[in-house]
Amino acid sequence: MTATPPSAAPGTTLEVRGLTKRYRSRPAVDALTFECRPGTVTGFLGPNGAGKSTTLRILTGLARADAGEALVGGIPYRSLDQPARILGVMLDARALHGGRTGLETLRLTARTIGMPASRADEVLAMVGLQEAGAQRVGGYSYGMRQRLGIGVALIGDPAVLVLDEPANGLDPEGIRWMRLLLRSFADAGGTVLLSSHQLREVEATVDRLVVISQGRLVREGALADLTEQAGTRVSALDPQALRRALDAHGIAYEQRSATELEVSLAAEDMGRLALREQLVLTSLGTTARGGLEEVFFSLTDRAAVPAGIVPAAAEQPRAADAPTR
Ligand code: ADP
Repeated sequence: MTATPPSAAPGTTLEVRGLTKRYRSRPAVDALTFECRPGTVTGFLGPNGAGKSTTLRILTGLARADAGEALVGGIPYRSLDQPARILGVMLDARALHGGRTGLETLRLTARTIGMPASRADEVLAMVGLQEAGAQRVGGYSYGMRQRLGIGVALIGDPAVLVLDEPANGLDPEGIRWMRLLLRSFADAGGTVLLSSHQLREVEATVDRLVVISQGRLVREGALADLTEQAGTRVSALDPQALRRALDAHGIAYEQRSATELEVSLAAEDMGRLALREQLVLTSLGTTARGGLEEVFFSLTDRAAVPAGIVPAAAEQPRAADAPTR
């Protein structure tokens, strides 16, 4: 389906600085600092209870911080003149009124924020719900509600989108659709922050990650950089000879297990080096997803990892992970 790409007034940065929020003296968000720039789709990632929703609620003026600040284009949400025209938000698609139709929902939102009714029809098409516009939301699937929720966020033609778990309940086609929608929004200069507790969902959609656990920042950066950090895993029949060869070429490595090293070389280059040095390799693989995997396993011990958070690589090794002979 072709949807009109949503346009965004470019140039609005989201800033979270030293944000802290306590519930009964326990910090839900703890001195959290990060930034989302125009043109990027940032995944806000962390296990359930990490503090994602709390952060998004503060960012969108629904909760107050105990310390620190959350700014939209340098201004707190509550001080924005026409907030829905600047920041579109979807916090919980289940909260949509079941008795209204999809189109009524969008028209009502448009009227409330001073947009023309025609914007509702435009957005209905944008989120792929033209066929279901006359149906009551109560009869929508969860995925359809997610689409409508994103539509509500888009009504004001905002520069920023803040979406809490938008991929939840979407089938693979829905996730693909969302990725394209958010990409075109960001490419037009928009800023996107979306939360998820599922690595797989986020990885396909975002270009940056902000990973939190227990209210604190664990990692922040470009998706490519976070995955690159992992490098290549290699083991050789003669581990000492392998280490000597790496040392001789000035290539950094870390011992990952008794037999395995992680080297800062592409797998192909490691293979070439082994050939040149006449080393017999017993395994060679990239850990392209390993960096993220490690982040997740370091957040909490395996037993406590919620089902959705198990990294995809743990379930489905990629071809590149398989040892080569
Ligand atoms: P996430 O969105 O990452 O799942 P939340 O922001 O919902 O995490 O929750 C972070 C922590 O704050 C959790 O321990 C949660 O129980 C607590 N919390 C969130 N909202 C409230 C509230 N209104 N009252 C008390 N505790 C809350």
